[in-house]
Amino acid sequence: MAAERDVIVVGGGPAGAATATHLARRGYSVLVVDREEFPRSKPCGECVNPAAVAALHRLGALPRVAAANPEPLGGWRIVAPNGTTFYGSFPSGGHGLAIPRAMLDSLLLEHARGAGAEVYTGARVVDVLTENGCAVGVRIAHGAATHQLTARLVVGADGLRSVVVRRLGLIRRRPRLRKIALTAHLQGVEGLGGSGELHVHPWGCIGIADLGEGAVNVTVVVGEDESAKVARDKAEYFDGTLARSGRFPRSERVDDVLATGPFDWPVRRAVADGVLLVGDAAGYYDPFTGQGIFRALRSAELAADVADAALRHGTVSSAALAPYDRARRREFAPGMGLQHVIEAVVSRPTLLNVMAGRFARHPPLADALIAVTGDLKPVTSLLQPRLLARLFV
Ligand SMILES: Cc1cc2nc3c(=O)[nH]c(=O)nc-3n(C[C@H](O)[C@H](O)[C@H](O)COP(=O)(O)OP(=O)(O)OC[C@H]3O[C@@H](n4cnc5c(N)ncnc54)[C@H](O)[C@@H]3O)c2cc1C
Repeated sequence: MAAERDVIVVGGGPAGAATATHLARRGYSVLVVDREEFPRSKPCGECVNPAAVAALHRLGALPRVAAANPEPLGGWRIVAPNGTTFYGSFPSGGHGLAIPRAMLDSLLLEHARGAGAEVYTGARVVDVLTENGCAVGVRIAHGAATHQLTARLVVGADGLRSVVVRRLGLIRRRPRLRKIALTAHLQGVEGLGGSGELHVHPWGCIGIADLGEGAVNVTVVVGEDESAKVARDKAEYFDGTLARSGRFPRSERVDDVLATGPFDWPVRRAVADGVLLVGDAAGYYDPFTGQGIFRALRSAELAADVADAALRHGTVSSAALAPYDRARRREFAPGMGLQHVIEAVVSRPTLLNVMAGRFARHPPLADALIAVTGDLKPVTSLLQPRLLARLFV
């Protein structure tokens, strides 16, 4: 089959838009296909960590994003089940941003278009076309019609439960960590001072981020054992949970509640013959540390470098694309490991209460953790003896 384009990117979220931008800038013909019309909302805490801000800068998209007046984010306040509170600030010079995903994702897709990528929205990819085991395009459904699009390389950027991953049999296992998230915007939330808040309860957690102009993102994450109640009426469940928390006395929900989960979707590898996976499609675990947008943007950079080399050499075999898989693992595996450690602590309220006390007594320890989850420092920076000693005192 003769390829109509160099690259088809399935999914126009941050990972897809960034990959398309990088490759279009290098002169490749790139088509982004997304099942939604934009602007579209996405269940998310809507916090862009400092390393993701730096990645937006490298992408050339930061001026566009800054023009939308995102709210600066200086760090995170964490409240343990017994009320113990600690605050970790991002290192000086690094700050995050809070911005509605409907806005951010539209801006990034517009940026990809500006770089020369074609964008096709409202078109759902339903299958990956293969020839001799190598991906050569996708089948899309647009309304009742389906048609085929071909390319030399397919990029799966279609998020959790990626159709590219499922069609190619790349799911490593079914989710083990089974949580549900409910997200909505509120007005009238008091006491937010330039930082995000995470309230951890024995039954789950509530994340709060000030989006500016009175709007606040509130995300509730609970265990799958609550799924029947959520399914009955997610808005009632969300509003009831917020009322019980006591944190939102004079606030009002201003839009619909979005629900999603579970999030634990590991993949076997992020490459196959003719295919690269970026962002959540390449594997996701848990939203607690808010690193997903960074990984989406960073994986796009790593993928574009390897895709460029493979396309130039005229071979997109999984062996030619394997350097991307290795680079991804090298960069993200330590952070994923830390996420598992954090989950082990957060899911044990008594342990979290004790640890929160240590972090509250030793602010440099809290700052070090927030620098790592902000992707500004490597996980190994937490292993300094002087910091570790504080964990046990
Ligand atoms: C509850 C929750 C809170 C989170 N909070 C944060 C946070 O505060 N900060 C942070 O950095 N990260 C956060 N994350 C993670 C973050 O949302 C993701 O990591 C990020 O969106 C990944 O970007 P992506 O481009 O890979 O996928 P997505 O943003 O999910 O984009 C995928 C795109 O693919 C499209 N698509 C899907 N299937 C198809 C198909 N078959 N055909 C065509 N198009 C398709 C979708 O419409 C979508 O536009 C959170 C995640 C959750 C679940």
